Amino acid sequence: MKVPFLDLKAQYESIKEEINNAISEVIENSAFIKSQQVKDFEKEFARLHNVKHCIGVGNGTDAITISLKALGIKQGDEVIIPANSFIASSEAVSSAGGRVVFVDNNPETYTIDVSKIEDAITNKTKYIIPVHLYGQTAQMHEIVEIAKKYDLKIIEDSAQAHLAELNGSNGWQKVGNFGDMATFSFYPGKNLGAYGDAGAILTNNDELARLARMYADHGRISKYDHEFEGFNSRLDGIQAAVLNVKLKYIQDWTEKRREIASIFLNEIKNDIIALPKVPTNVKPVWHLFVLRAKNRELILKQLESKGIHTGIHYPIALPNLKAYSYIQAKSNFSVANQYQNQIFSIPIFPELNADQIDHIIKSINKLEI
Ligand SMILES: *Cc1c(COP(=O)(O)O)cnc(C)c1O
Repeated sequence: MKVPFLDLKAQYESIKEEINNAISEVIENSAFIKSQQVKDFEKEFARLHNVKHCIGVGNGTDAITISLKALGIKQGDEVIIPANSFIASSEAVSSAGGRVVFVDNNPETYTIDVSKIEDAITNKTKYIIPVHLYGQTAQMHEIVEIAKKYDLKIIEDSAQAHLAELNGSNGWQKVGNFGDMATFSFYPGKNLGAYGDAGAILTNNDELARLARMYADHGRISKYDHEFEGFNSRLDGIQAAVLNVKLKYIQDWTEKRREIASIFLNEIKNDIIALPKVPTNVKPVWHLFVLRAKNRELILKQLESKGIHTGIHYPIALPNLKAYSYIQAKSNFSVANQYQNQIFSIPIFPELNADQIDHIIKSINKLEI
């Protein structure tokens, strides 16, 4: 049996006609830029998260850079980032002129370790970018408290966590409701994926929404009048049309991921494997299902031999990348340093069928080192 890591073709087959019609409509109407499809998408994506404003942008990396610019980042401002993430989180900081400061991840949840944030704060720290990694929310209530205490702004990197929820004194709230701004990626492999690059920013703040929209569109006031220099990073009409079709299904697909995750959590039983832990106040959306084991390379070989494709997110923690060779204190990231050699991701996507799920579980339960 073959179990791919992700099957975008299977998803397309299930909504082919709607997608093809939506794309043709954009082309028939030459509705490529700032079109009704984009406005419709922004409205619905904001509504689903219960946030006031959505600004469609070119991709999830630009969404972070643009949010930092809208928040007024200055050259050399320090920005706290988890050591375990995709490079986009930190890359966007450098492109906006900020200085990246990494913080280790929590050994249980894999998101930023809130107990280590304050040690990383200096008088230059201005922002925190928690990442809702693998579809699980970061510990936002604690992060919001720290941000208040030190007067920091928060951008929630939600690229892996469309519709994820966190419970607290205000009840269950979706991502995008905790920080000043939240950023999303619609890279094809994300839970909500476009057919190319796309991204978005959510915010409840009117002024930040206005600035983000201007930054994404050349700092424009009107066609040839520009208040400041921005970027060319708009959500295009074809991608918005694809996303509008998929938005009708995203909640069902998310529930499907949750069902599969709960089967994995109940049925994977092998002492050499550590399962992900979910705090009771988090409803993850399971962008990835990440296991941990010593002897990872042997395990991955055994799974590959059973036709199960796996991934590693991420094999090199951010502070250990050559791109960050200027960062000295690598020993500060003991969890990330250890986990980069142990974590691996097994397939989890809505179109996985019962036989494939069963095959994954049996194969993992039979793993021997
Ligand atoms: C995918 C991703 C991004 C960036 O998204 P792009 O749309 O590919 O630019 C940012 N942060 C995280 C955590 C991601 O996984």
